[in-house]
Amino acid sequence: MNTDHIRNFCIIAHIDHGKSTLADRLLQITGTISDRDMVEQVLDTMDLEREKGVTIKASAVRMSYTAKDGGTYELNLIDTPGHVDFNYEVSRALEACEGAILVVDATQGIEAQTLANLYLALESDLEIIPVINKIDLPSAMPDEVAEALESLLGIPAEDIPRISAKEGIHINQVLEAIVNRVPPPKGNENVPLRALIFDSHYDPYKGVVAYIRVVEGHLRNTDSLRLMANNTDVRPVEIGYFAPGMRPVDELDSGDVGYIATGLKTVSECRVGDTITLTASPAAEPLPGYLHPKPMVFAGIYPVEGEDYSNLKDALEKLQLNDASLTFEPEKSQALNFGFRCGFLGLFHMEIIQERLEREYDLDIVVTAPSVEYQVILLDGTQMVVDSPVQLPDESTIAEIREPWMGLDIFSPTEFFGTIMDLANKRRAEFRAQDHPSPNRVHLSFEIPLSELIVDFFDDLKSRTRGYASMDYHFEGYRAGNLVKVEVLVGGEVVDALAAIVHKEDAYHKGQRLVTKLKEIIPRQLFDVAVQASADGRIISRANVKALRKDVLAKCYGGDISRKKKLLEKQKKGKRRMKMVGNVEIPQEAFMAVLRLE
Ligand code: GDP
Ligand code: MG
Repeated sequence: MNTDHIRNFCIIAHIDHGKSTLADRLLQITGTISDRDMVEQVLDTMDLEREKGVTIKASAVRMSYTAKDGGTYELNLIDTPGHVDFNYEVSRALEACEGAILVVDATQGIEAQTLANLYLALESDLEIIPVINKIDLPSAMPDEVAEALESLLGIPAEDIPRISAKEGIHINQVLEAIVNRVPPPKGNENVPLRALIFDSHYDPYKGVVAYIRVVEGHLRNTDSLRLMANNTDVRPVEIGYFAPGMRPVDELDSGDVGYIATGLKTVSECRVGDTITLTASPAAEPLPGYLHPKPMVFAGIYPVEGEDYSNLKDALEKLQLNDASLTFEPEKSQALNFGFRCGFLGLFHMEIIQERLEREYDLDIVVTAPSVEYQVILLDGTQMVVDSPVQLPDESTIAEIREPWMGLDIFSPTEFFGTIMDLANKRRAEFRAQDHPSPNRVHLSFEIPLSELIVDFFDDLKSRTRGYASMDYHFEGYRAGNLVKVEVLVGGEVVDALAAIVHKEDAYHKGQRLVTKLKEIIPRQLFDVAVQASADGRIISRANVKALRKDVLAKCYGGDISRKKKLLEKQKKGKRRMKMVGNVEIPQEAFMAVLRLE
């Protein structure tokens, strides 16, 4: 079969530079979606899922376009996840393409994820088509951005389309560039099937739907198929492509992008990056690059109300149906009772899950301070992996603790150089290099412990730079560190969920800050409560929460009635979010306080 008329491409961009808006315009101009059905941001699936309560994820859409040369082309637009935590998924989606449209906001220029995504695309050997977006805005600087792109990519500035995805300006230039510059897929039709899974979702009727790129060979809807990672055989329920709804077909050929409804029950049986072949005549080797991305960030998630435990379990199971990289296992905390130790790819992934549990599943949850995975070497030579401070064995038995270090790239206007360096210093980052992608912008590279990155680093960076800085990070390796466990005792009892593993030099300072903070947060009880921090078996800080005076409400009588109401309301609200430790009530805020320590 001839693939000359096929173009497989994706759109990559820094967040908010206009990827989804451009995708919408392409779908609209090619008539894939009628103007009447045009909902904003068709490819932004989370919102749609929310609105309609069903999964209609369309991360690969087929469009038909008749070009200036008179030919009609099949354009497959493949969507890529927008967050650094999902770099592996992004890389697999890019493998399914021959070209990438690199969208750059004309008012912002090149940002951290512009470059991170560009490098991934170059690794997959894609043809890069830069596009400057938002030229309708008065603050647009298309000339400056075009120059930066020219020096970055070696593509003449005047050849770079300047568009407004929002206003629909010059979208045809983008379509023509796709047809003329993205090469058609190559691939041998007459060899055993090898299809790359670049995404998947769970459909209640058709089971796991795998999004695939047929790299070579072909498949029919009657073929028995094999997932090569686990040697699982499946009879597909259906095969087809998205336009953007599911369109079943009898056959998918080399170069095609489409889907296979596998009938499997969880996405973990059908992982991104795996290769699908034919059971009857299997390929000798799977496609290269299959990985099983491992969680990097861990936190305990507990229901505020004990009776919500099974609801929380159900919710996590449902989320996992569509998210093979979310892990969880039951965990019991002395302070928080029954909950789950959850593993995430990174901090953005963690935030997404937390938000979905609260919003979509309407759960009241307590999330403990996130932790990274430590490698602990004991004096007797045994090695263990610890992803929660509670699991850290007695200090006297430990020879060495290693923690994950990341490479960190920050892009910012030059004026914030000083404050970024200050932040980096405070977070144990090591400076590596700097350069200037354009005259007023600086690119800084660091190495930094992941544990420092997961605690508010991005928020702090944003506030220091008034939102102008962007960042990107990636795992580099494990390094030995001088680390200790800081424990907190409330009313003489160790509160396991408040423990943290910190750098030895910071232990004293952090212990003190933690105690001070807790003293503010823990409400006064009917008796004095001692709050203590300990490290290395020694108490390093202590404070007292004084007993409540009985007349705290009496003060309000006769006074401002609304103030009294507010006070009562506040107490009621607080009540829902309290946890009992021994006979002391600790509000949920306290468990987050460990995070917010400078
Ligand atoms: P994404 O994060 O890259 O998918 O970005 P979106 O497509 O969601 O766009 C981010 C914001 O920029 C949205 O508010 C869009 O309406 C806006 N936007 C996108 N393209 C344009 C454009 O060409 N001009 C203007 N003025 N706004 C745009
Ligand atoms: Mg988007």
